[in-house]
Amino acid sequence: MSYQAEYIWIDGTKPSPLIRSKTKVIPDGKEPGIWGFDGSSTNQATGENSDCVLQPVFVCPDPLRGPDDKLVMCEVLLTDFTPHPTNTRAACVAVAEKYAEHEPWFGIEQEYTFLQDGRPLGWPLNGYPAPQGPYYCGVGGDKMPGREIVERHTVACMKAGLAIEGTNAEVMMGQWEFQIGILPPPLIGDQLWTARWLLFRIAEDFGVFATLEPKPVLGDWNGAGAHTNFSTKEMRAEGGWDAIIAGCEAIGKNVDEHVSNYGVGIADRLTGAHETAHYSQFSYGTSDRGASIRIPWVVAKERKGWLEDRRPNANMDPYVVSRLLVETVCSAMS
Ligand code: ADP
Ligand code: MN
Ligand code: MN
Ligand code: MN
Repeated sequence: MSYQAEYIWIDGTKPSPLIRSKTKVIPDGKEPGIWGFDGSSTNQATGENSDCVLQPVFVCPDPLRGPDDKLVMCEVLLTDFTPHPTNTRAACVAVAEKYAEHEPWFGIEQEYTFLQDGRPLGWPLNGYPAPQGPYYCGVGGDKMPGREIVERHTVACMKAGLAIEGTNAEVMMGQWEFQIGILPPPLIGDQLWTARWLLFRIAEDFGVFATLEPKPVLGDWNGAGAHTNFSTKEMRAEGGWDAIIAGCEAIGKNVDEHVSNYGVGIADRLTGAHETAHYSQFSYGTSDRGASIRIPWVVAKERKGWLEDRRPNANMDPYVVSRLLVETVCSAMS
């Protein structure tokens, strides 16, 4: 029998791109090939020259449809098969290839917020829920809205074969996190974008909107980030501590380029409060959740491992963030 392939891509909407997808029915025995779409409806082309090309880059089982159906993560090309200006994956691939000898790995903690009727899921019609405190990794009663969506999403990622590592409820009511990794670029980006698509799609079934908005509620409520855990072969090796510190130092010399590419609205989230460092002030430290970069205690103990860049927003592009970290840290090593 033929099967359904859901082609997924990242559009050109400003200031933050949206995920788009459409379905192609493919004959039995055929692989998902190149396809196209109308770029004039996705902020990727003009009406007179509207055709854009979808090039499959990552294919996995579709956990929401039948056993033979597939998800097809794509990059967008121009009709001459060069990367479209909105394609951030191509540059990520180039940097990953250039620095492949350092074997960069990533684990990304994707935070997000469920919204319904324009406010966070479970929040009262007027005013606010009880202040932050009981929600992070909480359990019980009406404190934990959205858990059934989180459960469905986790199982879906597992069935798709994505490298989902875990989930937790976050500090703000209605906010949650999942982690994806440990993966090299560009696969970390392919899988995170696919997992985001699954989250949005599953939330639809509940009449809920999952948003990557970095600061969905102003005031004394945590924002949503995408802590990016990063290591190289040298950092993971025995005595990798020096390489980790050198990495932090190199990142500290490139603050403006990183912060301006870590997701739209970063100044609203990196205020210096709510477990963040101010975006203009770079710092790193062991176990320090108020630093730009945290070195986990287990890494300090073993003198090897990885670093956690806490600055990327929930709405960051993992192709961009992984490219910047590899470029900055590995070029300082060579
Ligand atoms: P926390 O919430 O305490 O910051 P999490 O458990 O949510 O930590 O996330 C830890 C992340 O660190 C995971 O995504 C994991 O893949 C990542 N990680 C662990 N080891 C490495 C490593 N060697 N290189 C890169 N990332 C790593
Ligand atoms: Mn986490
Ligand atoms: Mn978190
Ligand atoms: Mn973290």
